[in-house]
Amino acid sequence: MNISNQHRRKIAICGAGIAGVSAGFYLSRILPDVDITLIDKNQPVSLTSSKSGENFRDYWPHQSMTSLSHRSIELMQDLQDEFGEAAFALEFSGYHFISHKTEPIFTNENSTAFRKHNLVDQDAFSIHESHPYLDPDISKSVFIKNAGHVDSITMANLMLADAKKRGLHCLQKEIINLSQTSQGYAVQCHDKSIIEADQIIICAGPFINHLAKMLDLSFPVWNTIQRKFIIPDLEQVIPRDMPFTIYVDGQTLVWSEEERNLVQASKELKWMAEPFPGAIHIKPESGDRIKLGWAFSSEEVSPSWTIGTFDYFPQVVLKGASRFIPGLKQYEEDVPAPLIEYGGHYTRTKENWPLIGPTDLDNVYVIGALAGFGTMTACAAGELCARYIAQESLPDYAAYFHPGRYADPQMQLVLDSLTIDGQL
Ligand SMILES: Cc1cc2nc3c(=O)[nH]c(=O)nc-3n(C[C@H](O)[C@H](O)[C@H](O)COP(=O)(O)OP(=O)(O)OC[C@H]3O[C@@H](n4cnc5c(N)ncnc54)[C@H](O)[C@@H]3O)c2cc1C
Repeated sequence: MNISNQHRRKIAICGAGIAGVSAGFYLSRILPDVDITLIDKNQPVSLTSSKSGENFRDYWPHQSMTSLSHRSIELMQDLQDEFGEAAFALEFSGYHFISHKTEPIFTNENSTAFRKHNLVDQDAFSIHESHPYLDPDISKSVFIKNAGHVDSITMANLMLADAKKRGLHCLQKEIINLSQTSQGYAVQCHDKSIIEADQIIICAGPFINHLAKMLDLSFPVWNTIQRKFIIPDLEQVIPRDMPFTIYVDGQTLVWSEEERNLVQASKELKWMAEPFPGAIHIKPESGDRIKLGWAFSSEEVSPSWTIGTFDYFPQVVLKGASRFIPGLKQYEEDVPAPLIEYGGHYTRTKENWPLIGPTDLDNVYVIGALAGFGTMTACAAGELCARYIAQESLPDYAAYFHPGRYADPQMQLVLDSLTIDGQL
């Protein structure tokens, strides 16, 4: 063993999704003299992080989430400046929120500050003129400018390659136990190897509580499964330059009387007759294809490594989407092939804010509960965790995401005052 390495601090990052990769990257920059090991059962960014729609935006109902996303977008831009524009795609193509109603979509949308950065239109005629693919009765359009699409897998691989140059070490192993030792912590892997560490970061995505439990910790999170699918747009319903478009209205799907009777009489299908939340989203994909998603599932599940398909998901989403893009109706009965369908977990807290920072156990940190915003906030989340570990000054938003916030009376007041659950 190299004597000069004997006293180097060792940090083990448990999980190499986008959160673990980002933590490793920023730690390797802030603390270049620390030994960092990034451990994952699989290839980096291959679980939830590979299922992301890769959309980003800095508009959120609460300022803390806006600040976290804003910082993350800044960091992604910094990475592009550093690695070059061609290194990974970061497109500011916007988010287009639409509604059949004229009520505000965002509480502050009439403020001068909001209108300075975003575009609001509530003249159905002019909306239809500039977006002829939309239903002519769409009466509200809000275009968020600081938003778009990032090739997050390429970005994560760049961050990883860069951190490796500074000594970050990657191991492909399953962690089967974490324990405290007289010197620090021991990470025990499936092949019986043990990695010793002074500090641990739990970044295990949907499995954060599996790892937490090994240390007698528990995080107030749960998992749901959310899905997307991609189909060819055979009839070119969606313009290739359409921004990421989100229909905010909740709805009950439109069925013929015969269909409705059938659906309601079936135990397996009757969910299709229930009211659905808003936020169906759609965007053009490469190769004349379109990608659609609708995070309507609220069923709590135990995390799993593989996720099967869900009967009728594409048909239900296309039916819901044809409410605001009528041209999609033709795909509902005869879904164009090839259909690519996939899903992953949203791991979330009650208020849908992430957990980033120190836990109840000394030298154990967490980045988790990144739900449907982990791609867009990963850089800022990794940076924030690295700043905690390096004992550097923290940004204002840190307190809102501190894992111990539920025991802080002041933060509890903030949490109690929230009126919406923050689901995307
Ligand atoms: C369908 C879908 C669409 C989404 N779209 C967007 C979007 O448009 N924009 C956005 O910002 N976010 C989006 N998200 C959310 C985003 O993908 C996640 O928040 C993010 O990927 C979570 O990253 P993570 O690193 O926390 O978790 P993960 O990517 O799940 O990484 C956790 C890692 O831990 C490893 N691990 C777990 N247990 C062990 C163990 N015992 N031993 C070793 N390794 C272990 C896993 O193998 C995994 O690699 C979407 C999510 C889904 C499901």
